[in-house]
Amino acid sequence: MANKDYYKILGVERSASDDELKSAYRKLAKKYHPDLNKDNPEAADKFKEINEAYEVLSDKQKRSNYDRFGSAEGGANFSDFFGGAGGGFSGGFSGDFGDIFGDIFSAFGGGAERASRQTARGEDINLSLNISLKESAFGTSKDIRVTKLESCPHCKGTGAKNGTAFETCPDCRGAGRVRFQQNTIFGTTIREGMCNTCHGTGKRVKEKCTECSGKGYTRVTKTVTVKVPAGINQDQILRMRGEGNAPTTPGVNGDLNIKISVNKDKLLVREGNDILLTIYVPFTTLLLGGKIEIPTLDGMYNLEIKELTQSGTVMRLKGKGTKILQREARGDMLVTLKSEVPNKLDKKAKAKLQEIDEIYKANSYSKYSSFVDNVKKYDN
Ligand SMILES: [Zn+2]
Ligand SMILES: [Zn+2]
Repeated sequence: MANKDYYKILGVERSASDDELKSAYRKLAKKYHPDLNKDNPEAADKFKEINEAYEVLSDKQKRSNYDRFGSAEGGANFSDFFGGAGGGFSGGFSGDFGDIFGDIFSAFGGGAERASRQTARGEDINLSLNISLKESAFGTSKDIRVTKLESCPHCKGTGAKNGTAFETCPDCRGAGRVRFQQNTIFGTTIREGMCNTCHGTGKRVKEKCTECSGKGYTRVTKTVTVKVPAGINQDQILRMRGEGNAPTTPGVNGDLNIKISVNKDKLLVREGNDILLTIYVPFTTLLLGGKIEIPTLDGMYNLEIKELTQSGTVMRLKGKGTKILQREARGDMLVTLKSEVPNKLDKKAKAKLQEIDEIYKANSYSKYSSFVDNVKKYDN
């Protein structure tokens, strides 16, 4: 899926707005809908392709990943654990998809039943979780409090006393389906659909569950332990399937989506899986070499600086970056060394430095520094 041109598939410009995308998608989805192209086997493939393109481009995060990386998944590809690149977090896509299909199906008849036969699904819960840089690097486990709808255990979500006090639905006589007349652009059709009274179950509650007053769900506040994997980064989403709200009619739970926010560290900066640190080293250490203590993700570390190290030198410490998501490896740490010039000089130090200055100018300055050469060239 990486190399397809989704914009071309939908026939829109790369700058297309959401509305333009939606309208292009509608037109094509209607044109290639398999129900309307029974004698054109290629239509099904085309239809699939159109849906794939729209799924990516209609999702802000996926579209941005696609624009940047040529794939909707961005860096991390966690199809199950993560909501892809934010798939469910905004809820934008699935909502839209339902809308559009509702439209198409009601216009063309055929698919409406398919749409209405979907099992009820509880709403997703979207939360954000703050973690430290170190926790993002090595993973952590956090307890969070979540208030959500939960299926009533006394009636197993049915709303009927003990989960058994039912009677046959009077509207559909237990069939779960009813016939109704529908006017479409193609004329009047008689169609069969789900019974709204019993939501297709064919049963009606005879005596209500007293624990949930017949609702079938209750609101609870729970502690949920979130396992945050090592290497997770800012704005990535952990999807805990089925940990969201219970639906208000029997069905499946929504998901709990946790968006990660990594607190800024005082000194260390994360870039991908690498850690960046800029430190100011006494100019004498850069000249003479020596050891300095620096902070790392693993604690303090003695960094050895070679004699005559230039200001601005970047030292790479292999494997001292963050863990890489779903892998054993780690990124690197990049330490930029900058020369620190003191802002005070006492008499003794100044006298010594003047001595050095004279030696330096008389000897090595012209021999080893490119500065003089450069100035000469500039003069010509
Ligand atoms: Zn109940
Ligand atoms: Zn019914």
